[in-house]
Amino acid sequence: MTSGLIKGVNKPGHKGWTTEKCIICKTNIDLYEAYEGGNAYYCPKCLSQGLKAYFCSADARRVHYKCPYCRSELKPYYQF
Ligand SMILES: [Zn+2]
Ligand SMILES: [Zn+2]
Repeated sequence: MTSGLIKGVNKPGHKGWTTEKCIICKTNIDLYEAYEGGNAYYCPKCLSQGLKAYFCSADARRVHYKCPYCRSELKPYYQF
């Protein structure tokens, strides 16, 4: 993800989830809600290479759950 940068950061009132932007439409994705509702997807391969490849559910469907950058299969965020 963010290569360990979150480690040690303790924002008051923040329960530890983050917000990412959909890489296609730039919609904010609340990763906590995504975790609960399974409405966000990510590309593990791109993420491991530092590309923030998060997808909202609409765009994930639009690209047929295949990463448009590396053609890997997208994973639902709740399986992270
Ligand atoms: Zn999107
Ligand atoms: Zn990818």
